[in-house]
Amino acid sequence: MNPFATHLECSLTGTSYPKGPAYRLSDAGRPLLLRYDLDRIAASADRDEIAARDGGFYKWTELLPFANADQVPRLGETDTPLIRLGSAPSVVVKDEGRLPTGSFKARGLALAVSMAVELGIDKLCMPSNGNAGAALAAYATRAGLKSLVYCPADTPRMNIDETRLCGAEVVEIDGYIDDCGKLLAARAAEEGWFDVSTLKEPYRLEGKKTMGLELAAQYHWSLPEAIFYPTGGGTGLIGMWKAFAEMKAMGWIDGSLPKMFAVQADGCAPMVRAWEAGDEFAERWEDAHTRAAGIRVPQAVGDFLILRTVRESGGRAVAVSEAEIEASWRDLARQDGVLMCPEGAATHAAWLRMVRDGHLDREARVLLFNCATGLKYALPT
Ligand SMILES: *Cc1c(COP(=O)(O)O)cnc(C)c1O
Repeated sequence: MNPFATHLECSLTGTSYPKGPAYRLSDAGRPLLLRYDLDRIAASADRDEIAARDGGFYKWTELLPFANADQVPRLGETDTPLIRLGSAPSVVVKDEGRLPTGSFKARGLALAVSMAVELGIDKLCMPSNGNAGAALAAYATRAGLKSLVYCPADTPRMNIDETRLCGAEVVEIDGYIDDCGKLLAARAAEEGWFDVSTLKEPYRLEGKKTMGLELAAQYHWSLPEAIFYPTGGGTGLIGMWKAFAEMKAMGWIDGSLPKMFAVQADGCAPMVRAWEAGDEFAERWEDAHTRAAGIRVPQAVGDFLILRTVRESGGRAVAVSEAEIEASWRDLARQDGVLMCPEGAATHAAWLRMVRDGHLDREARVLLFNCATGLKYALPT
């Protein structure tokens, strides 16, 4: 492991675990967070030197878990561009569709697979709504590992085919992603598959954290006022917040941290309901439906971390309708030439709503996440 990594910590109780062995959840059944000796990193590493390296998200080696950057599976990782909208110059889109496998799931799964290689694990499995399974399949195959993915049967066909073609065994289930997770857990235990579900192992989060590191560098270490993130399992939101805290502790970033907006769809909005009620945890959302498959997650193991991030940052949790998602999808394509995925379009719809409702100035510098290439989806006509 990275010599700067010190230990892991339960995100709920703070209980400490020694680094070294493979971990899933803490004994309290909550996500584990990897901790680093930030003073030592600050003393020996230079943020601008790191930012200038090649290798995309893998370049942040001092703040990533693996020991040896020569042994990680690579598929052409790259920094993703920031695109300022002509239709709204205060708004910038970070286009994660440029990553291997066409989505930001590459960041997390590349790290999970890298650590599996380092830990000698050779069979990885997960439930997926589409992009995560595809990223797992591609990176596992690249590293010479086996992969197994359980998908809801109504996952976009493109994602299922892509996952299978990249080498995973795919099982389609008549149910939601959390149903897939339960069925898969039984088989994984029996056949010895290691489950890399969202936040149920510690290293995908470290990969998603690189969105925060990369953004800080692209913004010259002074972050935008607000970030809109399409929230399913919430790894990206939680990961960016962890990145900001680490950079703050090392004196890498100046000024205040962004308000974090967790964006969901009206048809599946467990975080919005819990945020509005002031709850610490979120109840499962029944009969979840939205065409934005990436955020169709009825229940998230990191619910309290998502809600904590939104509250600590002074942001909000906001749900948008299918009609708003489709309108933003069309408008950004027509007005700006920017083809979003539906989850990305949801962030634009949420930004419009926040401006209209007076929660944000139209001139406030905001960042929207386009988390996957629009070309993976059945497009509106
Ligand atoms: C996974 C995914 C999301 C949700 O990301 P989380 O970090 O799990 O909340 C949003 N959009 C797309 C396209 C995804 O694949």
